[in-house]
Amino acid sequence: MKDSIKKYFRENYKKIEEEIVNLTCEMVREKTINVISEKLPEFPFLKFRGEEYRVGNIVKRELEKYKIPYEEYSRMEGRPNIIGKIGKDESGKRLLMAAHMDVVPAGDGWDTDPFDPVIKDGFIYGRGVLDDKGPLASILVAGKILKEVLGDNALSGEFQIAALSDEEAEDPDGIDYGVKFLVEENLINATFSIIPDIGENMKRIDIAEKGRAVFKITAIGKQAHGSTPERGINAIYKMAHLINEIEKLKFKYEVSPTLGHPTLNLGEIHGGAAPNIVPGDCYIYIDIRSVPGMTKEYVFNTLKSLTQKVDGKFEVELLSWNEPHEISPDNDLVKAIQINGKDVLGFEPEPFGMGGGTFAKTLNLAGITSVGWGPGDDEAYHVANEYVEIKQLVDFSLMTCLIAIDLLT
Ligand SMILES: [Zn+2]
Repeated sequence: MKDSIKKYFRENYKKIEEEIVNLTCEMVREKTINVISEKLPEFPFLKFRGEEYRVGNIVKRELEKYKIPYEEYSRMEGRPNIIGKIGKDESGKRLLMAAHMDVVPAGDGWDTDPFDPVIKDGFIYGRGVLDDKGPLASILVAGKILKEVLGDNALSGEFQIAALSDEEAEDPDGIDYGVKFLVEENLINATFSIIPDIGENMKRIDIAEKGRAVFKITAIGKQAHGSTPERGINAIYKMAHLINEIEKLKFKYEVSPTLGHPTLNLGEIHGGAAPNIVPGDCYIYIDIRSVPGMTKEYVFNTLKSLTQKVDGKFEVELLSWNEPHEISPDNDLVKAIQINGKDVLGFEPEPFGMGGGTFAKTLNLAGITSVGWGPGDDEAYHVANEYVEIKQLVDFSLMTCLIAIDLLT
């Protein structure tokens, strides 16, 4: 089976390449920009965050063209999640290939129109060509080829193509329209999942991701007239002392073989209203990336006791928390990527752990063995002149077919 797929790619290379490129460009032209609601007014052409239905319509059209049945699930109209399915789940094994349809804003510094993709010297340039519309095109074409070359009954498991919403921004209300919504509603039924959303040029496989916690700490002072500071309590001064302690903070943890050390970033500070007012409060936001073994209680209590060491009144709030995850480098999914990589790409992708989070975290925490793995340079994410190498998109499509055959037959 794998030989017939490889032969098909050899004989139809130009046609496959053209199809992936055209599909990628068509999706990039749709401005599915996802920002938090507060920033939405900066994008007057958007009626709501993401508007992923624009790309969703293309995905559905292609699935219909290839006669691949699909389901559509949305928490809100216009922000769909589409899952196409090929094969039958006789063996009980299901492989989900999931890419997101939303993009980050273009930002400044582009040499060309970010939403009018340009093809030059074997690369495509445009917002979303890599993150994540190019890989989505590769997966769609892989599905079509699996069906065309092998027919409907060759796979004893199920190959799932997912085009999802809401990856790039999270509103403070925490309501999710993409993978978390699907997991909460029990709408995903997969054994394995690959998330092509990390770059690394297919050379590394993300098998572990740190946990992420966001804390807000508020210093509570007392407001007074700026000319009589002795009557107030300056919350900014109190916070300054606490910040000194935070900078010195060292967590107790065991170094993880894949994830290494935890990190802490104090990313935001707010306080005061005017130069002639003693600030009544001051608050900071802290982003912590944890390694296995660091519990929610431990991290919270560590910050809490830090505030008790410093003179002043403080409030510690945990705004969000997710656990780190780690899968074995020896599992079938990782092995299938490695074996086919060696054969087709000429290298064996290496497992590694990372501090950033992808859909793979949500899926792993929901019990689905998932990795981040895919084409493209990690440096091309979220920057001006985002690019992807066309050859990598075609290779990724071929690899997708071969991995599906290994895992599902
Ligand atoms: Zn992405």
